Amino acid sequence: MSYCLSRFQTLRRHTVEVKVGSVGVGGSHPIRVQSMTTSDTQDIDATVKQSIALAEVGCEIVRVTAPNVAAAHCLRDIRRHFTAAGFGHIPLVADIHFLPAAAMEAVEHVEKVRVNPGNYADKKKFAVKEYSDADYERELQRLHETFSPLVRRAAELGRSLRIGTNHGSLSDRIMNRYGDTPLGMVESALEFLRIARSHGFHALILSMKSSNPKVMIEAYRLLVDRMNGEDMHYPLHLGVTEAGDGEDGRIKSSIGIGSLLLDGLGDTIRVSLTEDSVYEIPVARAIADKVMSLWPAAAEPAATELADPVDPFHFARRATTTLELSPRCRVGPEQPPRVIVAVPSLAELPAAMAALASPRLKDTPPEGIMIPVQGPGDLAELCTLLPAQGLPCEFLGLDLAPSVRTELLRPLLAMSPGRILLARTFAADRLEELEEFTVLARETGQFLAVAIDPAEFAAFGPALRQLGDKNLLFTVAATAGRTGAAHAVGSYRQLAAGLAAAGSAAPIWIRNTAASAVKPGPDFLSRLTEASFLTGALLCDGLGDLVSIETEADPTRATRVAYNVLQGAGARISKTEFVACPSCGRTLFDLQTTTQRIRAQTGHLKGVKLAIMGCIVNGPGEMADADFGYVGGAPGKINLYVGKTCVQYNIPEAEADARLIALIREHAKWVDPDPATAPA
Ligand code: SF4
Repeated sequence: MSYCLSRFQTLRRHTVEVKVGSVGVGGSHPIRVQSMTTSDTQDIDATVKQSIALAEVGCEIVRVTAPNVAAAHCLRDIRRHFTAAGFGHIPLVADIHFLPAAAMEAVEHVEKVRVNPGNYADKKKFAVKEYSDADYERELQRLHETFSPLVRRAAELGRSLRIGTNHGSLSDRIMNRYGDTPLGMVESALEFLRIARSHGFHALILSMKSSNPKVMIEAYRLLVDRMNGEDMHYPLHLGVTEAGDGEDGRIKSSIGIGSLLLDGLGDTIRVSLTEDSVYEIPVARAIADKVMSLWPAAAEPAATELADPVDPFHFARRATTTLELSPRCRVGPEQPPRVIVAVPSLAELPAAMAALASPRLKDTPPEGIMIPVQGPGDLAELCTLLPAQGLPCEFLGLDLAPSVRTELLRPLLAMSPGRILLARTFAADRLEELEEFTVLARETGQFLAVAIDPAEFAAFGPALRQLGDKNLLFTVAATAGRTGAAHAVGSYRQLAAGLAAAGSAAPIWIRNTAASAVKPGPDFLSRLTEASFLTGALLCDGLGDLVSIETEADPTRATRVAYNVLQGAGARISKTEFVACPSCGRTLFDLQTTTQRIRAQTGHLKGVKLAIMGCIVNGPGEMADADFGYVGGAPGKINLYVGKTCVQYNIPEAEADARLIALIREHAKWVDPDPATAPA
């Protein structure tokens, strides 16, 4: 694989070491966790206070926006006071958009400068223009002249630079030639990279951020692929921009950052949340610690004969057969990934069914409910329970213990009014059991979820070729052995590879269990991060047709997390998609309360994408593909957007919510909220 050493285990990419002040990034250093202040940079006291608060919760690199030369000048005193407070070892980074003069001032005072190649030397005009090769060359020359002074000064002062590309703010030149694509993002960074290298400057870190985890993942992979091709090995700063707040923000960040770290890519990370920045650090820490726990384990890829069928640079959902688990619930490539809830024991089934029948889950119900079956007693109880209770979902799953044999199941299958999904683990040395269960499923018109250890695929392959796809789906057994740097994402990728090799297009069920965790933790954040890693990384690879979050004992919460992860990966949209910037020194209104207020009014608009951005300098570019935008235009004034077009300017903030809703109505995207499903 040209961009990483292994897709089945985590082998860290080799990079050069870049020093940001005294903090080493890349090389043999741990993943560095960073964040950004949100205060007005010219309010020196507030910015120092926020920097100290970040450092005290474990932030290793602090970024501060420098929107103009005056703000950049303030970095001198911010650095001085921050050092005087005992944080001289924590580097500061200036965040620059549009103004080379601000960068030239900032580089004098702080350890690193981030430039956005989309706007460092270009004003955004959205001009439609064909660039001839000669025009393009002239543009590159202009870029060289504009960027070189910063590179030279950074070299003189021992500073580092980040070339920080954002999906939403590519230059017109790049947009015209490459479009709004991961390739465009990569080319944008490479232009700046080549200029820096032409001066012999190598203290470079790169980023490829987007609010869409799929785009971001593809862009970073492509960047590394291209850099490898040119023998360049600079460290990466990972982040999902405008991830929003709460559970959704944490999920999106964990999906994007986690996928890449599991690929072995990434040396410093920032989780962007629309919350006080100190809340970003525990999330970033959890992500980094989980992945770093895999690092010491292996230096070389384990030998495998399986060829990975996924194209890591272009998303395409895996083509599978379609299974009809009920007349209203089919599983397959044209269907959204289905949600299964696992009930821990038969005794808890009645309570779980009552919880799942709640109107709150009316729009996001689990399609399947799965019950563990340990033996004949459980089956007998199910026979009495099921007809009386009915099911609050489309199909029933039976998670069968290895001792449950086919003959025990026939009475229940004969009386079942609906379809049943039989889930069972099969060992490579008991292939006759796999055949028996396959025959049972086919004879009774039911379905079989085959759980196996993909490392044993060689033994299963011939049997699977004979059994074909009908009535079967596959998952990774909880008993699948993983050692060293191997992880569950790799196991599922191996499963997909094994199925491809066996000619099977059976669907894949992603089961989040205690056994699938990279590094289990007792808290909800840890479980949420693990669910985002596994399910999100696989969905962004195009793998996964059913999902269950079995680490959540509460069925309502397990359902909610499953839908939220599906939404975060863009695999199944069940509510409004919010793109909200984390805020910074440019922000013109209270982003956190505004985001919460707008979410409360519009959170039920399934499929609508709303952006809430703190400023017009960056906001309209960053919100890329949102349907509507609420953007700070001036202090106390809001601009409203439809797509990328500003349709209402300078609305008083007090009127902006109502005007936004009116705009959504005008464009026929509004529906009244259902009181039964509204949050309490
Ligand atoms: S969009 Fe938000 S985070 Fe980005 S520059 Fe503007 S205010 Fe700052």
